[in-house]
Amino acid sequence: MPELPEVETMVRGIRPHADGREIVDVVRPRCTRRPIAIAPAFRTLRARMVGRTITAVERVAKRIVLKLSSGDVLAIEPRMTGLMLLSDPPSTEHLRLEWRLAGAGGERSIWFWDRRGLGTVRLYRDDEFATQLGGLVEADALTLTGDGWQRVCAATRRPIKVALLDQKLVAGIGNLYASEILHVAKISPMLPAAELSAAQVRRLHAATMAVLETAIHYEGSTLGDGTYRNALNKEGGYQNEHRVYAKSGNACARCRRGVIVRIVQAQRSTFYCPRCQK
Ligand SMILES: [Zn+2]
Repeated sequence: MPELPEVETMVRGIRPHADGREIVDVVRPRCTRRPIAIAPAFRTLRARMVGRTITAVERVAKRIVLKLSSGDVLAIEPRMTGLMLLSDPPSTEHLRLEWRLAGAGGERSIWFWDRRGLGTVRLYRDDEFATQLGGLVEADALTLTGDGWQRVCAATRRPIKVALLDQKLVAGIGNLYASEILHVAKISPMLPAAELSAAQVRRLHAATMAVLETAIHYEGSTLGDGTYRNALNKEGGYQNEHRVYAKSGNACARCRRGVIVRIVQAQRSTFYCPRCQK
């Protein structure tokens, strides 16, 4: 957490307030918590950003990407608890970076907030961005084609649930949405990826698009810890639509006779219905 739908929601939240605006300052608020990873060093990052215009606000897998008029590209990875905010942070002591932006309507700010401080902020030259993050762009779960999905599944004999979390194969899906997608696709999480039939791969592709696009429509999932918020510090709504995630012991909402179970795969929880995901 956050996964693709939450990061896409952050991108859509800040884009109208950042795209086309000039960065007049980058500020690191006083923070006594574990510092987040910033590269290059803050002073250099600030020097390369101030005076530049933001020419695009995009998402690459689970990163928020700001493209600059200089050609540099800023990638912000929220990891466990990071958020991009326009205002009203959940707490002030976890504010990590502020970008002050000028443009039509006057100055405004966007913020990176991170409670646990595991998030990263990295500024790339455009050629570095292409070599280091180009693979994630190509593997993005929302743009992977049918042929791409066939290649991904053929590439490994690991269980499909574990393969879905490998960002080098398909980028943007995390533990929550992997379980939800496999339930919609009616595929067992234990099935070796390379053993999926062509029809199952097509169902996986369609289920991925449906689950991720619906979750984006609901502005992502805010779980019990309440950490994830949109850019206006409001909860998402997709947690109310979950079918299997954290629902072990509940009846399956589709077949009504199966009971959702929790298993552990590669040290992560998987939730599924043994009756309709054989
Ligand atoms: Zn079921």
